[in-house]
Amino acid sequence: YSVADWYDAESLLSEDERRVLARLRGFLDAEAKPLLAGYWERGEFPEQLAQPLIDLDLMEPAELTGAPGAERRPARGIYQGFRVFELARTDASLATWYTAQAGLFRTAIRVGASEEQQRAWMPRVIDFSLKGVFSLTEPEHGSDIAGGLSTTARFEANPDGGTWVLDGAKRWIGGASTADVLAVFARDVADGQVKAFLVDRQAAGVSLEKIHGKTSLRMMQNAHITLDGVRVPESMRLHNVNSFKDVAAMLKAMRSDVAWIATGIQAGAFEAALAYVKNRQQFGRPLGSFQLVQEKLARMLGNLTASLSLVVRLTEQQAKGFYRDQDSALAKMQTSLLMRETVALARELAGGNGITLETDVARFHADAEAVYSYEGTHDINALIIGRALTGESAFTR
Ligand code: FAD
Repeated sequence: YSVADWYDAESLLSEDERRVLARLRGFLDAEAKPLLAGYWERGEFPEQLAQPLIDLDLMEPAELTGAPGAERRPARGIYQGFRVFELARTDASLATWYTAQAGLFRTAIRVGASEEQQRAWMPRVIDFSLKGVFSLTEPEHGSDIAGGLSTTARFEANPDGGTWVLDGAKRWIGGASTADVLAVFARDVADGQVKAFLVDRQAAGVSLEKIHGKTSLRMMQNAHITLDGVRVPESMRLHNVNSFKDVAAMLKAMRSDVAWIATGIQAGAFEAALAYVKNRQQFGRPLGSFQLVQEKLARMLGNLTASLSLVVRLTEQQAKGFYRDQDSALAKMQTSLLMRETVALARELAGGNGITLETDVARFHADAEAVYSYEGTHDINALIIGRALTGESAFTR
């Protein structure tokens, strides 16, 4: 096992799961790594990686879930976690791109769609023939989206089952420019409750604008979306979303994915820093031979191992059906906090070279900032935990 997996958490995986992950690792090393610095600098996503990554069949791999046609078993949570870990260990944008479909969009369908809708859509979500994104955040509402969500949905009855008309704006939506559909959350003007819709990206009234000038996750493309009188048939409403409570159930699942991303980023940064200090000589000796450098390496490994142990245990609990908001909030909050220190130490150990894309640590360091803030900021996750501990909601006065 690798140094980054100090307590051999991978031993929890089956042989088959390890083989699928080895296939992913091989692809990332050979095809993705050489492209990362250039695409990051240009602020573009390496689209040529998308189809080969999809072709790796990672979401519900046939080897793990049974042959097509047979009764498919879902892939285990621990496999899914390590899949995200492996992607993030190479690059946070790649991990975010993958989880936009395999985490966010898939969760929206799993939790929000009726059984009939799931039968129609889920196979296409799994093979990426229906690409979707999760459009919740708004320009004026991020942390307070639960109460603040202001995109509206107005129902018009007609003989075809009715049509919804959506108006509003969404911001930061990852992967929107290449999606087929946008899962949009909007407030029903009739009952004031949040509902969800699959909106065709090409529908009249939908406009997308790329968010420029990002200093973090530069490879990942985020969109500002305007919805102006967009018409959506009732059949494209996610029938199991009836209030923000249903959206919160989705966020719980997504936060666990982000905790795995924050852990994978630490592994990538730690490995890059370790390689660097073994090679770089100062005072006639490798940097890695100095006591102060070794202390930083140990601290990084401690953060990484604590994070990996935390997400593994969280995933085991989830597999047993023990799964609360405060559990995924704790994992997202704590792994992100440790990630911030780990990537900063990695950057520091590479000295001046640590602020160039050459050594990898700069990319992890910059990208960690977006991960720290998305899927619930540190403060919001802390308040979710605080509410569970005290019974008092501190979100508003
Ligand atoms: P704000 O809510 O304005 O918060 C600003 C600061 O105030 C934060 O530090 C916050 O912790 C603090 N704060 C706010 N309220 C409180 C309080 N009550 N107490 C203490 N502190 C508080 N959204 C989607 O819907 N889909 C996506 O695909 C998506 N992808 C994203 C990708 C990236 C790269 C980024 C950066 C964001 C993405 N988001 C997405 C949005 C993301 O979820 C929000 O950015 C996040 O929820 C924070 O909202 P905000 O940026 O509006 O910050």
